[in-house]
Amino acid sequence: MVSPRNFLKNRMLGCGLGSALWGLWGLLALSAACFLVLPGLAGLSAGSFHGLPALSAGPFVPGSVPAAGDGDFIRWVDFDVPEEVLERAFRWDVDTYQEELHINWVELLAYLGAKYGGDFSLYRAADMDEAAARLRGGESMDTIASGMRYYPYYLEAYGAVLNGLLGLYETEIAPEDAPDFALPTDENGRPIRDGQAVWVSKYGLKAFSPIASGFPYSEYDDFGVSRSYGYQRRHLGHDMMGQVGTPVIAVESGRVEALGWNQYGGWRIGIRSLDGKRYYYYAHLRKNYPYQSGLAVGSLVTAGDVIGYLGRTGYSAQENVNNIEEPHLHFGIQLIFDESQKEGDGEIWIDCYDLVRFLSLHRSEVHKVEGTKEWARTYEIRDPALAGP
Ligand SMILES: [Zn+2]
Repeated sequence: MVSPRNFLKNRMLGCGLGSALWGLWGLLALSAACFLVLPGLAGLSAGSFHGLPALSAGPFVPGSVPAAGDGDFIRWVDFDVPEEVLERAFRWDVDTYQEELHINWVELLAYLGAKYGGDFSLYRAADMDEAAARLRGGESMDTIASGMRYYPYYLEAYGAVLNGLLGLYETEIAPEDAPDFALPTDENGRPIRDGQAVWVSKYGLKAFSPIASGFPYSEYDDFGVSRSYGYQRRHLGHDMMGQVGTPVIAVESGRVEALGWNQYGGWRIGIRSLDGKRYYYYAHLRKNYPYQSGLAVGSLVTAGDVIGYLGRTGYSAQENVNNIEEPHLHFGIQLIFDESQKEGDGEIWIDCYDLVRFLSLHRSEVHKVEGTKEWARTYEIRDPALAGP
């Protein structure tokens, strides 16, 4: 749990990258966030990040879901935003975070979604940059998107996918990665580098790849391809092929909603985002030891936590059976605008291939817990989304 005050415990650095960032994308691919930021943080709380849509409106109830409304909610989303587009919009957002006019990546993407009718084969980087330049010049998105009938739809739809992936957070980093000003000082004001991890505040990608850092995997775009076990159906997720035992990572902070055997997914875990809109599904986990110890339905997890282990269980009515030929993580993201969409004909599973590739910018480092079958994350984060009011 973190209070806004904790943010101030760290001395923080501006991104300081400015336009230099633009020429350095390739080099900076590792940096999925920038260090932050000075005073103005005192007033921030989980629901009021600067420039970002609130994670949850109203009283904070972890794991709460949108109330069933008047029946007017989004019924379908095609999320076809390519990785390079996600990354460029993300860089605009992070790079302008400390400027007076902060560009919100979801708004930028919603504008392009509305412009192209969701068809990103029409995408040109110049379109994004031109919109960003107008925003920086002081025009509002309302003006820029005026006349675009479906802008509000794309804003809500893409926001349901992306809100919660980017924001302020605190993280431990290795002392050798810490700038001097982030370190504690001795009586002479000199920084102490005692091998302890250092807490810093960052603004950037606070969500993680589903596969731990250092563990190889392979993937291809397999959303929607045909599957035949049980009944003819489409593949509503993304497979990441790797070795049995590879630590599986919580992409976003949330509450465990399902944990146990499922005929298709085998040992699987389902985690709901704290705004209730995203349900992350991790399936085919390891036989005999699928989950991180201590997890149960109702547990809160933090983005980057080890939640389980890659395996090949599933395709069996009987529990704990390895019927999947090639070990892999099946990863799915379901959007829920109304609780009636959680199960049944109204389910919305999005194509998450490009999103997963984008998330590979940020992989959780882990270490073996000796004497166990488990791995643990090396660097903790504090996610304001998990903090109460
Ligand atoms: Zn799959």
